[in-house]
Amino acid sequence: MQVKQQLLSLKPYIPGKTTEEVKREYQLDKIVKLASNENPYGCSPNVLEAISTKIPSFAIYPDGGTTELREKVATHLGVNGDQLIFSSGLDELIQMLIRAMLSPDTNTVMAKETFPQYRHHAIIENAELREVPLKDGRHDLEEMARQIDDKTNIVWICNPNNPTGTYVNQSELEEFLSKVPSHVLVVLDEAYFEYATIEDYPKTIPLLNKYENLLIMRTFSKAFGLAGFRIGYGIGAPTLIKQLEVARLPFNTSALAQTAAITALEDIEFVEKTIAANAKELEKYYQFFDKHQISYYPSQGNFVFINIPGLSSDEIFQSLLEKGWIVRAFPNGVRITVGKEDENEELMKILAEIVTVKL
Ligand code: PMP
Repeated sequence: MQVKQQLLSLKPYIPGKTTEEVKREYQLDKIVKLASNENPYGCSPNVLEAISTKIPSFAIYPDGGTTELREKVATHLGVNGDQLIFSSGLDELIQMLIRAMLSPDTNTVMAKETFPQYRHHAIIENAELREVPLKDGRHDLEEMARQIDDKTNIVWICNPNNPTGTYVNQSELEEFLSKVPSHVLVVLDEAYFEYATIEDYPKTIPLLNKYENLLIMRTFSKAFGLAGFRIGYGIGAPTLIKQLEVARLPFNTSALAQTAAITALEDIEFVEKTIAANAKELEKYYQFFDKHQISYYPSQGNFVFINIPGLSSDEIFQSLLEKGWIVRAFPNGVRITVGKEDENEELMKILAEIVTVKL
């Protein structure tokens, strides 16, 4: 018995150490996890009431066509219902897209570092990876365009990019799209789109009218605070959506998730508060980083990517872990999820200590 050869080179996804593991290993009472870019403010308070009152029965399958949520999202975005495909988080949509489009005789172009699931599933399908290093932490779109050939089936743009928080602006995105041949699907992963407050962040929905080879991905996991429900969606041309529907599992989003998403979408005030609080906390981080010679990329997400001169990312990660703070280490830096005010202040104190010890 043997799984596909390429699976042997991969590791299962492990979302860092758990709070319980760190507690035991370091004999600590309090652990703070700022590692998965979740919403520290939770979700709309209306969600709890809706999920306890609006589900008709747990014994029946959910609405496989996601009818009500589809209507709500379509109205919210100003698109048609047949332009939407729903998934159990964007993780599932990424897998669905790759399963539908990549095979051993194709290639896929993406940035390095970016969201690791694109790479992971492309390897499982044995497609050729064309990873283009970030330039100053940003997508190198010129080089990405150069990497496209007639075997390219998907190009990934993560905007804002996880883990760096950097973004591709309106004119850069449009220029890139105009260069991509129509046989290539451009997947624009906008998991953190709501957090992007900068003026020239692209208005992506109108681009769908011009580019049939564009698929935009959004999720309820981040600014809407519903990561535990697992629900996200793609927006694209009806013909593409119809083809992708074939690869979708029946009933892939639960009744609870659909109800939660409908309710969350109605409480835009909650999302706006989340976005404002995140922007305010990020500003405080920047001031702190500037003062302590910690390098960072200005972020359009709910996380920030940092480096401390003289320390490796593993050393920064480890110093924080020993004090009960779980963040995420990447080869070129550490990604910290922006938490609540008191968490951020406490973390800044600890980072200041780490910098002082190093100097
Ligand atoms: N894309 C990006 C860029 C992400 O950071 C994440 C989650 N961390 C996802 C997609 C997957 O999100 P979800 O499955 O929770 O919708």
